[in-house]
Amino acid sequence: MTTQAGVNLASISRNCTRLLAELHGGELCAVIKADGYGHGMVSCAEAALAGGATWLAVAGMGEARELVADGEFEDLEAPLLLLGPICSDDLEEAIVHGFDIVVWSEQYIAHIAQLAAMMELKARVHVKLDSGMGRFGTRDAQAATRIAQAAAAAPSLELVGLMTHFATADELEDAFFDEQLERFTSWVTPLKEAYPEVIVHAANSAATLRDRRAHFDMVRCGIAIYGMDPFGKDPAEQDLEPAMEVGSHVAAVKLCKVGESAGYGRRFTAEHDTYIGVVPIGYGDGWRRGLSNNADVLVNGHRHPLVGTVSMDSITVDLGADPAAEQLLGLPVVLIGYQGEERITAEEVAGRLGTISYEIACGLTRRLERRYCRDGEQCRDE
Ligand SMILES: *Cc1c(COP(=O)(O)O)cnc(C)c1O
Repeated sequence: MTTQAGVNLASISRNCTRLLAELHGGELCAVIKADGYGHGMVSCAEAALAGGATWLAVAGMGEARELVADGEFEDLEAPLLLLGPICSDDLEEAIVHGFDIVVWSEQYIAHIAQLAAMMELKARVHVKLDSGMGRFGTRDAQAATRIAQAAAAAPSLELVGLMTHFATADELEDAFFDEQLERFTSWVTPLKEAYPEVIVHAANSAATLRDRRAHFDMVRCGIAIYGMDPFGKDPAEQDLEPAMEVGSHVAAVKLCKVGESAGYGRRFTAEHDTYIGVVPIGYGDGWRRGLSNNADVLVNGHRHPLVGTVSMDSITVDLGADPAAEQLLGLPVVLIGYQGEERITAEEVAGRLGTISYEIACGLTRRLERRYCRDGEQCRDE
C-alpha cells in the first residue's frame, strides 16, 4: 500500500457537464494550469473535454508545451488559451501552434501582427480589459477598444476573444463584482455588435456559479471542474464532486506512555497512555507543516487527530487509549476524501491552514503518486 492521490476522472467530466448545464448554450473553457490544480494536467484535460468542455486554458507556454508533448494532445483540436503573459522567446512557438494569446497593449499587438505576418501565419488573440483585478490587461477601455480594432483589421491577426477577470467573485457580499461586471459589459457590448463572431468571456468558477450575467459566450472554470468549491464551502452545496482523494496507511502503531512524545520538537506529549499511528506522508508530499497538531485523518471510519509535528515523510496520529488500536496497523488512512460516513474535504484542510483549497491541491508534490480511475475502479489502495 502506498501513499497516493486518487483522481476520479469521471467526477471531472461530470463537474464539467454540471457547469455547462448552468450556461444555456455558452462554452466551457477548462482551466488546467498548475498541472490541473495538482490533479495532473493531461488526464484532466481529457476528462474535461469528455465532459463537454470545448476550450482548454493554461498559464503559459511551458505548460502548453508539456500538453502537446503528450501523444494524446499532439494534434489538439480544442483551442488552447494561454492566460498569462508570453515572453518574446515563446511567441513564435505559440503562433506556430495556433495557441490563443492574451494581449493588452498597442505595442504588443503591433509586434505580434508583424511577427505573424513574417511567419505567414495568423495569430489568434484575445484582448483583455482590466476591469478591476489590477493585474494583466489595460485599465483604459478606449485603448482596449483600439487594440481590438487593430486586431480585427490586421490580416495576420484573428480577433478571437474579448475578456476580463474578476477580483471578488468568490466574496458573495462584495459589491465590487457588480462594478467590474458593469465596466466590462459597457466596454464589450459595442465591440460584440461590431464583431459578432468574437467570444466574450469573463467568469471564473465563482462568477459562473454566482451570476448568469457574467457568463457571456464562454466561462473559464478551474477549481469547480475538480469538484472544489470556489467559495470555500462544502462542494456538495453546488453539486460538485471532489475528484481527488488523498490516502495512505498506518505503517506503525506504538504505545506512547504518559509523558512520552512523538515527532520533532516534542510538540505532542502524551497526557495519558495512548496509541500513536505513524503514517508515511509529510510536507515532502505537500501535506503542509502547518497541519502539525492541526488536522484530522480518517482510520477505520473514524476521525483521529494528527498530533505532533508534520515531518517531511511522515505524520503521527493519536489512535486512542484502547489497545484495540494495535489492530489498525496496515489499515488505510484517508487525509482527504470519504471513509464510511466520515469525510474530510480539501476545504476543511484549507480552513485549518487559513488558505484556500486551490493551494492545498496545487501544493501536492510530484512525489505523491497520482492514481487515475473512473467510477467503480479503485482510486486508491484500500
Ligand atoms: C486561473 C484562472 C481562471 C480559473 O479560476 P477558478 O477560480 O479556478 O475557476 C480563470 N481565468 C483566469 C484568467 C485565470 O487565471
